Amino acid sequence: MRVRIGDIVIGKGLPVAIQSMTNTPTFDVERTVRQIERLKKAGADIVRVSIPDERSARALKEIKERVSVPLIADIHFDHRLAILSIKMGTDKVRINPGNIGSDWKVRELANFAKEHRVPIRVGANTGSLPKDLEDRYEERYVALAEAALREARLLEKFGFNDIVISAKSSDAIETIRANEYIRERVSYPIHIGVTEAGVYESAVVSSSFALGYLLYEGIGETIRVSIAGDPVREVYVARKLLSTLGMRKEPKVVACPSCARAVFNVEKVAEDVERKLFKLGKPVTFSVLGCYVNGIGEGKRADAGIAGIDSERFVAFKRGEIIGTFKMTDLERVIEDLLSNL
Ligand code: SF4
Repeated sequence: MRVRIGDIVIGKGLPVAIQSMTNTPTFDVERTVRQIERLKKAGADIVRVSIPDERSARALKEIKERVSVPLIADIHFDHRLAILSIKMGTDKVRINPGNIGSDWKVRELANFAKEHRVPIRVGANTGSLPKDLEDRYEERYVALAEAALREARLLEKFGFNDIVISAKSSDAIETIRANEYIRERVSYPIHIGVTEAGVYESAVVSSSFALGYLLYEGIGETIRVSIAGDPVREVYVARKLLSTLGMRKEPKVVACPSCARAVFNVEKVAEDVERKLFKLGKPVTFSVLGCYVNGIGEGKRADAGIAGIDSERFVAFKRGEIIGTFKMTDLERVIEDLLSNL
């Protein structure tokens, strides 16, 4: 099944969409627009914003007018905020029918969303699992998946099928199992993510494992890598993950960890090259190796690269060929030349 979110379509066989979420107060239009623009520039395909109150929902109108990336309104508890967000132009609504209250409220929202062709993501999180499901299923991942499926069924009961589904746990394995369980039962697009994944390293490891595993199995049509802090980092990690899986062509720097043989500061040079490559936006591979042990081989496989020879000299490559040996003092200039001619 396919779902349209603004000008992005997600579904089986289509590119996996990168999602992130703002952490500014949504009613602060200036800051929110600025952050959405940074997220888009970093590579976000879809951006979610929290709508905790009416002024946030009303702010959506101006935000929508000022940004070009599709927006998702994230709603809890109050279905009227979801309806208001649709009136203000949101491209998708994320709700948890379990905390919307009565069925008639979900029905009212489903009818309104259908009329305006706005899809709804229903999601379950381990942090807010319904008690009856937790009691009924021994395995928590089953309770998590069943919670998400129950929400989808509730929308189906009201004739609504424009659904994206998600089941997120802060545990990577539970996230994998819950999403496998869902995929075996429904064909709605699945939004995948590890929730409350933590601060940088933990979040990156946990999300890369769970999301990478699921995507490799063909599960997941949109992804979010949750990281505490600046959401732009989430987008960079998501891009790198998709590129690692061969699902996107991205600029790539091959760099060695460096060791006693390294004849220049590999980390510093590699970081500098990566920054410049991403700025250029070209999906090319550049290798930075501290010495010629593996440097020659990697350099020949990359679109361009350098490898140290000794403290005075390095060798440069382009499209599989050695283009020359240069003085270490010319390192920056040669890298600039290589980058600008790729
Ligand atoms: S490429 Fe050379 S410097 Fe880099 S880790 Fe390998 S041996 Fe060490």
